[in-house]
Amino acid sequence: MIKTMTVLGSTGSIGVQALDVARLTGIEITALTSNVRIDILENQIREFRPAFAAVADEEKAEELKIRVADTGTKILPGYSGVLECASLKTDTLLNSLVGIAGLLPTVRAIEAGNRIALANKETLVAGGDTVINLAKERRVDILPVDSEHSAIFQSMQGCPDKKQIKKLILTASGGPFFGKKADELKDVTAEQALKHPNWSMGAKITIDSATMMNKGLEIIEAARLFDMPEDRIDVLVHRQSIVHSLVEYEDNSVIAQLGVPDMRIPIQYALTYPDRFKSPVRELNLAQARTLTFEEPDSETFRCPGYCREALRRGGLYTAAVNAANEKANELFRAGKIRFGDISESVEAALGYTLDKGNHTVEDILALDSEIRKKTEEMWQ
Ligand code: MG
Repeated sequence: MIKTMTVLGSTGSIGVQALDVARLTGIEITALTSNVRIDILENQIREFRPAFAAVADEEKAEELKIRVADTGTKILPGYSGVLECASLKTDTLLNSLVGIAGLLPTVRAIEAGNRIALANKETLVAGGDTVINLAKERRVDILPVDSEHSAIFQSMQGCPDKKQIKKLILTASGGPFFGKKADELKDVTAEQALKHPNWSMGAKITIDSATMMNKGLEIIEAARLFDMPEDRIDVLVHRQSIVHSLVEYEDNSVIAQLGVPDMRIPIQYALTYPDRFKSPVRELNLAQARTLTFEEPDSETFRCPGYCREALRRGGLYTAAVNAANEKANELFRAGKIRFGDISESVEAALGYTLDKGNHTVEDILALDSEIRKKTEEMWQ
């Protein structure tokens, strides 16, 4: 069991829940980081007494430095401060940053030899083989925090040979617009899209869930984490969010992980793996749940997962490109600047560029990311 951990994005939804786990299991905190929420971060510093904390917003960092001067925690300003925290030696680095901002900190943490508990899916979507190969080279484990990938990882325990796995089945809640058709969705607002039926999550991922881009990103994430081709990763809509994902084996046996929809289960497993501990999460009562339903996703209405599959088949920088287009479009939609349907059009447009399919560095990926964001913004001006 790990003794120390750093949490990147400690004031976000996953970060706060990760600290709940730390409190219960006695894991000590090496460093914490936040973008701007220094009130919450101050409380966390006073409770967990990390050696370092970083605030991406430099003015807020200065303010916090004064407020916690009595604690002995050193405050590092800016994104460089976040990277410095990621580089500190610790048993596990939990990366719950949102978007492409999570890529470089993961790389720094792998270079420092820290085990990664990964909640930032963009690290693997944009970073692709570059990140996976670096982790292999440094013998660093990447443990999934995303509930679907944790379910697959848990359903693979006890499988001696990965060749015996036939396919992975990701479940999807379907989001707030399940059952609707494209023409009914053209003009839905960010406010409507932000109402997720089962999970409470940050704003970016909740919109991704409404467009089902989240499932597309998760197909790419699963392909990279478990070294599976795209055509062996299925998606099933499961409205109750109780079966978190499944693994089908050569003998047609299917193993799944079930539980109430509460991120503290996958977060805790990533931190305590291979052990399990008591959790504050509610017990699953299947008799009360009564019905579990499964159905095919509507890929005509929700086109983003198909675009993500295409990016994965092409390889190279294409997965970074669809991710960048989506991140920008998601942001523009939340700002009220584009319509809901424009998000998937932006993602489709990213497949229209001719991109390098060979090996690439993290710098190449970040350069492409800025370029695609710019093009996506220009597309809607
Ligand atoms: Mg998920």
